[in-house]
Amino acid sequence: MISFIAGGGAAEIGASFYVLRLGDTFIGVDCGFRPTAANHDPWNVEKIMPNFDVCPKLDYLFLTHGHLDHVGAAPCLLERFKNLRIFTTEPTKFIALAQWHETLKIAERDKTPPPFSGDSVHSIASKIRVLEVNSEKNFGEFSVTAIPAGHILGAVSLLFNYKGKRIFFSGDISFQDQELIKGAKHDFQVDYLISEATYAGKSRRDRREERDRFLGDVRQIINNRGRVLIPSFSIGRAQEIFEMLRKSDIAELAPIYIDGAARSMTDIHQVFLPHKINRHVNKHYVENVAHRLKIFEQKPCVVIASSGMLSGGASVGYARNWLGQEENAILFPGYIDPFSPGYAVLTTDHGDSVALPEKNRTIRAYIKRCRTDQYHLSAHADQSELLMMRETLNPQFTILVHGEPEDMEKMIAENALGSIFTPKNGEEIVLE
Ligand SMILES: [Zn+2]
Ligand SMILES: [Zn+2]
Repeated sequence: MISFIAGGGAAEIGASFYVLRLGDTFIGVDCGFRPTAANHDPWNVEKIMPNFDVCPKLDYLFLTHGHLDHVGAAPCLLERFKNLRIFTTEPTKFIALAQWHETLKIAERDKTPPPFSGDSVHSIASKIRVLEVNSEKNFGEFSVTAIPAGHILGAVSLLFNYKGKRIFFSGDISFQDQELIKGAKHDFQVDYLISEATYAGKSRRDRREERDRFLGDVRQIINNRGRVLIPSFSIGRAQEIFEMLRKSDIAELAPIYIDGAARSMTDIHQVFLPHKINRHVNKHYVENVAHRLKIFEQKPCVVIASSGMLSGGASVGYARNWLGQEENAILFPGYIDPFSPGYAVLTTDHGDSVALPEKNRTIRAYIKRCRTDQYHLSAHADQSELLMMRETLNPQFTILVHGEPEDMEKMIAENALGSIFTPKNGEEIVLE
């Protein structure tokens, strides 16, 4: 028997937790939080967690990459299934550990009960075994090959082989080369495809054109002696944007700073990509609160700070200080959740007020006078690339996950796709 069920991350983006049943073996792929829910109600465990009850037991967990919506809840899963064997790539192990420690830090700062204990983080750290990429690892009843997915440092797709049947989890995948990470390439076929669908129903502008538009806008603000805040995911996007700016003339025109959790994640990038990321990058880190207060007043300057959607973290402080001045800009480099404060900042009209989170978990209104814009520099396949992947891999059946239901339905209808499922969480699909 081969079956698939999602405990989270089907018909939604967030809380990815997929269970593949191969005979009597239950294999988990990813185990993340639902960040949207966290925007409204931080650490409301019921809302942010995937449902672990979708499997009676779990033998293995494979993590595709280190984003919170894929690894955030893994320590809780280990609390539930104590004999779990856990595998991921080495960079993802480091990124995930940093994420779990950050979660504990935020819970302590906000005086909310953490979703898992420090002991759980220690125990998961000691249990993770490293997967080498492009090398088939045999587990007896099945084998798995981790194939680079192009999305962020350490990200892989997973190709399972069970009795000659090939089951492919794309994970979050990107086919276009970025500044630091090369795009994914496939030259094989599979029987079953479990595909992400973040950009189903959407086509994206050419990445190079979008990069030029972004750099042009940053340059214009700097030339007018303004400040630019780039709220960014701490992993992947922050480092890509830094390299993009560093290689451009903007590095000569204004100081570029990195703030928030993006700093420790940049350290990890330096370890694994020493020839790609600038070795003096830590000179760009905002050192402490006093340094940050100075930068609030400095102009022109560029700050890359997490979080990416202004739901918390260092970026919110810059937004509070810079939102009200005409010469400044807040430029979002990727996807923004429609329920996030970042989305409100982007869509509020000039001169109107917009609410931002305060330190004490309240919100306060600020008048928006700065410029805002959004750029599609996301590291996800767009619809045409998703269709191309399906054509290359040529599966018998496809399961779409990690997408908005209406977008997935649109992609299926517009392209008259057959043999394709869009299950809900908890809905089991028996493949054979
Ligand atoms: Zn991701
Ligand atoms: Zn994701």
